[in-house]
Amino acid sequence: MTSKFDQKKIEEYLKFLGLKKKYKFKINNCEICGNKKNNIIRSRIHIGKNKNLFDIFCYFPFFLCNKCNLLFQKYKIEKKFYDDYYKIIYRKRIYKSQKPNKLQLQDIQKRGKYLLNFLKKNFNQKKGSILDVGCSLGGMLKPFKEKNWHCVGVDPDKKWVSFGKKYFNLDLKAIEAEKMNFNPKSFDIIIIIGSLEHVYDPNIVLKKCFKYLKNNGLIVLEGRGNPIGNSMMFLNHNHHRIYSLNTFRTFLFKHGFNHLYSTDKINLTGPVNKGGLKSDNTIFYIGKKKEIPSKDKFKKYIEKFRKDFKFFKKRFDEIDQKKPLKDAIILN
Ligand SMILES: [Zn+2]
Repeated sequence: MTSKFDQKKIEEYLKFLGLKKKYKFKINNCEICGNKKNNIIRSRIHIGKNKNLFDIFCYFPFFLCNKCNLLFQKYKIEKKFYDDYYKIIYRKRIYKSQKPNKLQLQDIQKRGKYLLNFLKKNFNQKKGSILDVGCSLGGMLKPFKEKNWHCVGVDPDKKWVSFGKKYFNLDLKAIEAEKMNFNPKSFDIIIIIGSLEHVYDPNIVLKKCFKYLKNNGLIVLEGRGNPIGNSMMFLNHNHHRIYSLNTFRTFLFKHGFNHLYSTDKINLTGPVNKGGLKSDNTIFYIGKKKEIPSKDKFKKYIEKFRKDFKFFKKRFDEIDQKKPLKDAIILN
């Protein structure tokens, strides 16, 4: 049950976004371990700027699972809300334009090139097949295609996909990750670059990735897990959850992937901006398809990787004290 107090505050935020419909929402359990026990660690998120370019914040609480340490939103709003949001508002807010600019088109290819070189050098990946889940324009696949890889991308953003398809001449599908459908064991590598935070149900997505990867195939994740600024600026509603290196690891283990490599120090997609957006708060994880563990084995694994318990709380407390927000407008 959600409290009336919370419900009212969140409805106010949805109105602020310009979405007039009423949406249902419920309290979330941890998506990794299913645990119901958690603690609120931050209650406000960044929602945009006003005319005078002051940052605006509103009530939208984030929890920390007290078993596996996943940082996630307290409320799960019904799927329709996100469909409406992405259709109407997201692209405009992030890029202020419905069409990609030159810089974005260059950057996305450069990032793919960095990743290809890293995988070649460190994991001896030669020509194969690759799937990009949440591919956006798909340009990360372009350098792979130039080296004769078989490349496929999926993304729910129809406009971006249709642009990328023509511009890069790639096989991209406008479909949500949860609904993608490929033959089992089709790919040598699956990449999810900054998208596992956005998808509605990451468990369905990872289950599918396990199925579509060949045995010993690689999964490569990039996430926004290394907060370097004030927590209220770091958190927003379209990142449904925020992973750390350890929660990437436990989540992937749950779905049958063993840890191969992870880093919060090296940017595997290069020192490249994402079309003007900074990317120095990202973390990377590479897993190898093995087998889905028993419930017992998974439980023990979580225990083992609770080393950074309260990582985000500690980091947020530290940074927020050092970098308090000036001129912040608190909506509610
Ligand atoms: Zn958990």
